[in-house]
Amino acid sequence: MNQLEKENINFEFGGHSAKVYESSLMIVSPGVPNDSQVLQNARAKGIKLISEIEFAYHYCKGKIIAITGTNGKTTTTSLCGHVFNNCGYKTHVAGNIGVAFSEVVLDVKEGEFVSLEVSSFQLDLIDNFKPAAAIILNITPDHLNRYENSIEKYSLSKQRIYENQDAKDFLILNKDSNAIMKYLSGHKSKSFFFSLSEEQKDGCFYTDGEVVFKLNGKESFRCLRNDINIRGEHNLANAMSVICAAKIFNLDNAGIVNGLQTFESVEHRLELVREIDGVKYINDSKATNVDSVWYALKSFDEPILLILGGQDKGNDYEQIKDLVLQKVKRIYAIGSSAEKVFNFFHKDVKVELEKTMEDAVKSASREAIKGDVVLLSPACASFDMFNNYEHRGKVFKEAVNKL
Ligand code: ADP
Repeated sequence: MNQLEKENINFEFGGHSAKVYESSLMIVSPGVPNDSQVLQNARAKGIKLISEIEFAYHYCKGKIIAITGTNGKTTTTSLCGHVFNNCGYKTHVAGNIGVAFSEVVLDVKEGEFVSLEVSSFQLDLIDNFKPAAAIILNITPDHLNRYENSIEKYSLSKQRIYENQDAKDFLILNKDSNAIMKYLSGHKSKSFFFSLSEEQKDGCFYTDGEVVFKLNGKESFRCLRNDINIRGEHNLANAMSVICAAKIFNLDNAGIVNGLQTFESVEHRLELVREIDGVKYINDSKATNVDSVWYALKSFDEPILLILGGQDKGNDYEQIKDLVLQKVKRIYAIGSSAEKVFNFFHKDVKVELEKTMEDAVKSASREAIKGDVVLLSPACASFDMFNNYEHRGKVFKEAVNKL
């Protein structure tokens, strides 16, 4: 606020008066739904609406690597920044990750990179936004309420990331994702693919404990799966997308491997909080949909005590049922969806209803034996009990640290 006053910029907080319509351009924060009254009114008055990344893009002198997808954006954006910086290429990490693009854009010099996390909400209001490389990680059902419950509309919104790219730009896609490949169309950029299962002529793939990158069918990079320091198949896929970007921009192989080896998981994403008497406590508070929980469960061979529940977004637990039956010893159901979780799982797995996070952690710790994992991976939003997912993760960690 002080800064706005200093710069002599008019402002309003906590609501809108009719004054907002006395403008020719609105830069819309990603939290504002496209169909909100204020945006409808603005559209009706012919005011141009753009997102904040579109605005910042026009001032960017560096090369943008834009990263989108339903899950894995923050992890991949951070990893990309880490690997590029590790190879000696100055790379700014920004976007939906806590540092807005417009906050750093004037610091970005020619020849530098921006690893930019981009949500579909931001893409809904682009115009000329044109990243040098665009990554689409995956598309699975989430936020569908903003897209008339249509996976096609949601996918097409994410695919706008490449709509302004030309033949000099690059597009990096998850070959294993039907929702991406099915709706892919009209891209002019050169495409690269990554896959956990299928060899790629242009791109990155996994084979027998190793990760390989090929360009025009010729191998130019290879590392061990174990060189990638973050756990789980999903993180292997995230890392492969970064390897594609790194190879496209000719980064040095040894530097890439070193970057992969030294990257630590981001807070609240499969974060190891503590190991007590051989029991690992894992904070995956950012798992706010069923797909991310599926990957979390896949990431452990150990028996799991799972803390699940929160504000439900129309979850279908069928997707994780088999894995839960295979791996989960007991579920601790929390939040406003606790009963739904109970009703879905209790015939097959023991489910305990817990009032607070502390109670859930205490109960799980009593039940856990050496070699188990206590996993908070809630599959839900946090707003029924907490301010946000960070708050939920912190409360979990505090409860663990009190044990
Ligand atoms: P985003 O920024 O897209 O929300 P994050 O990196 O913050 O992604 O991860 C959110 C959740 O999704 C975490 O629980 C994380 O373990 C999980 N996750 C990360 N990458 C993937 C992926 N490629 N596919 C599915 N789940 C993922």
